[in-house]
Amino acid sequence: MIATAGTKGVAVLGSTGSIGTTALRVIERQRARFRVVALTANSNRSLLSEQVRKFAPSFVGMVEQQQGDADESWKSGSESLIAAATRDDADIVLNAIVGAAGLDATLAALKRGKRVALANKETLVIAGDVVKQACASGCGEVVPVDSEHSAILQCVTGHPSRQVRRVVLTASGGPFRGWSEKQLASATIEDALRHPTWQMGRKITIDSATLANKALEVIEAHFLFDLPYDRIEVVVHPQSVVHSFVEFIDGSVVAQMSVPTMELPVLYALTHPERVADEGVPAFDPVRLSPMTYEPVDHQRFPALRLGIDAGRAGGSAPAVFNAANECAVAGFLAGKIRFSDIPRAISSALDALADLPAGSRENLLEADARARAHVREKFGC
Ligand code: NAD
Ligand code: MG
Repeated sequence: MIATAGTKGVAVLGSTGSIGTTALRVIERQRARFRVVALTANSNRSLLSEQVRKFAPSFVGMVEQQQGDADESWKSGSESLIAAATRDDADIVLNAIVGAAGLDATLAALKRGKRVALANKETLVIAGDVVKQACASGCGEVVPVDSEHSAILQCVTGHPSRQVRRVVLTASGGPFRGWSEKQLASATIEDALRHPTWQMGRKITIDSATLANKALEVIEAHFLFDLPYDRIEVVVHPQSVVHSFVEFIDGSVVAQMSVPTMELPVLYALTHPERVADEGVPAFDPVRLSPMTYEPVDHQRFPALRLGIDAGRAGGSAPAVFNAANECAVAGFLAGKIRFSDIPRAISSALDALADLPAGSRENLLEADARARAHVREKFGC
């Protein structure tokens, strides 16, 4: 029997992915504080079954379920994500779904007053203002899982936002940091999936190779911390030990560091603003982690970053178009339909073609999302 009294219930959406499995490892170690009440996945039946046996959640959802594919008690379809995210026994919803598919579950959880531990950064990029409205209307809260944003949160907690002058997000630079434009033009799927410091899902790994991931993170930081874009900067830090810097108004700079592991930001998203003892993170050894180096971003070779920041600055539906065009182009690249260098071209083309679509509501933003995907499919054959 597992004791549940006094523990917080966690619904893990996207439990079979890189962040989902990391979260379950963390929760397993922290059984005295947390219990799994719901698990959802897209289609990985065998891993989900294994997780269900181990964590005995009261709710299981598998979105793409075939008849006879799973236990009859499992719920199917995208409604299962909303059902998991709004359960009474879920105090925290850990959203580790990849892409736009995670948006509605986040909104539903926030409207029910839940803490959303958010790995699914695309949610904030598509609909940052709508997410904030959902927070306000339901008294929910978003706590970031992304390591850079967790770092910023850890640095600013206890300080009013007016004391923050700027933040500097670190970027590993991805597998193509030293590559020439010519080499990039012929980069293969295997090359792009070989990330130097992080083991992650395929989509975010490609986003890290194009630096579109850092663009998504700049927009994410804008919404999470209410920072204008001219106070959010990016620096390449290949070792991924410093997860971000915060510069305060007195000139003092505070950084958060650890060996690269997502277990720490996942745990902090569950416990913020508290810290709890945990054995998961390897000891910090500054000598072994030396040297720590920094370099500027090369926007010429990695145009996706600038495209995303400009979309963020433009506001309205532009970030949703950026995100959807990127998702579609990445899927096309991973399916062998387009080249690596076509990804930023596809994003740029969608942003040019679809400027000034109406924003403001979830429906408008999802319409912009759909039109951007249709544009990239039609023009680039993704
Ligand atoms: P992943 O591909 O490993 O896992 C994605 C999960 O989402 C899986 O459980 C899958 O079943 C589920 N899923 C996929 N499509 C779905 C759909 N249409 N409906 C419902 N569920 C669906 O991805 P990941 O690397 O774990 O990333 C998840 C999210 O976390 C992404 O938004 C990513 O940007 C973010 N993130 C990941 C990392 C990392 O280290 N992996 C770090 C920071 C942020
Ligand atoms: Mg990150």
